[in-house]
Amino acid sequence: MTFNGNSTSTNEKSSTDPADAFGALSDPLRIDILRALGDYHHETEFKTTIGFADLRRRVGVEDPGRFRYHLTQLRGNFVEKLDDGYRLTFAGAKIIAAILMGTYTHSITKDAVELDSDCFVCDNPAIATYENGNCVVSCANDHPLFSWQVPPTAAADAMLPEIVDLAELLARQGMERTLNGHCPECYHTIESEVATEQAEPPVFRAQCETCGARLISPVGYCLLVDPRVVAFYQRHGYNLHDYYIWDLPFVQNEDLYTLVEEKPTRVEIDVSVAGETLTATVNETGHVIDYRLVGE
Ligand SMILES: [Zn+2]
Ligand SMILES: [Zn+2]
Repeated sequence: MTFNGNSTSTNEKSSTDPADAFGALSDPLRIDILRALGDYHHETEFKTTIGFADLRRRVGVEDPGRFRYHLTQLRGNFVEKLDDGYRLTFAGAKIIAAILMGTYTHSITKDAVELDSDCFVCDNPAIATYENGNCVVSCANDHPLFSWQVPPTAAADAMLPEIVDLAELLARQGMERTLNGHCPECYHTIESEVATEQAEPPVFRAQCETCGARLISPVGYCLLVDPRVVAFYQRHGYNLHDYYIWDLPFVQNEDLYTLVEEKPTRVEIDVSVAGETLTATVNETGHVIDYRLVGE
C-alpha cells in the first residue's frame, strides 16, 4: 500500500510490501493506537496532530518504552510524525474506517427475500441475498440479475430490500465514477471499454489495474446516470431510479442494442417511454456521444 499524499513529515520509512505493512497491525495495541488517533482527529477541528504523552495516555499504556516501540512500528505506513506530534496517514485513516465498517471483522448474512420483480429470463420472482459484503439478486434458476458490494456496517441493521436500494445507489455511483475515469473502489484512474467481439450482446467492462476492482455489466448501465436519459424519464412523469436497475428495458433487453459500427465501436441503445424513443449512441469507452429522439 502506498500513499502519495501531501505529507510534510520526514524520515518516514514506508513499506510497499503489503505483508510488511499489514504485519505492523498484528498487535491489538497498535490498532488501539490507530483508533486513538482516529478519535482525536474526529474530536478536533483544526489541530490534527497529538503529542506522544497525550496519545499514550489516551491509549492507556503506562510504559513509555513499550508504547514508543509499538508506535514506531506504525510509523511510515499508517502514522506520520510532524513537528508537533503524530497523526494518521491516508492509509491509516482508511484502515480505521475499514475496521469501523466491519470490513475485516463482521460476517453478516441475511435470509433471502423475494422482491417485487421477475427474472427477465425465466419470469420467476427475483430473489435478493446478502452474504459476506455482497448483495446479490438472482432467481430460482440462478440467473444473475444484479450484484454489488455493500459494507457490513451499512447492512447490519437494514432489511434486505433497503440493502438492495443501497447497492443500486452504489452501483449507479460506481458507474458514474468509472465513466469519469476513476475506480469506484480506490479512485485511481480506470479504463473502460464496450466489448463487442466475443460477447453478444455488447457488455461494458472496466478493471482497475491498481486495486483489481472489476465491473462488468450490460452496456445499458452506461445510461443509468446519463442526464438526458434521466430527464427523458422525468419528462414523462417517471423517476428512472424508482425502478430496479435490472428491470429497466434498456438494461435487460438486448434487442434494444444495435451495433452500428465495429471500429470504433458505436452501439445504439433505444430508451422508450410512453411511446417516445430516445436513441443514445455509446462509444468504445461507454460514453454517450449522441442522442436522437424518435416520436411515436
Ligand atoms: Zn431466472
Ligand atoms: Zn481501484
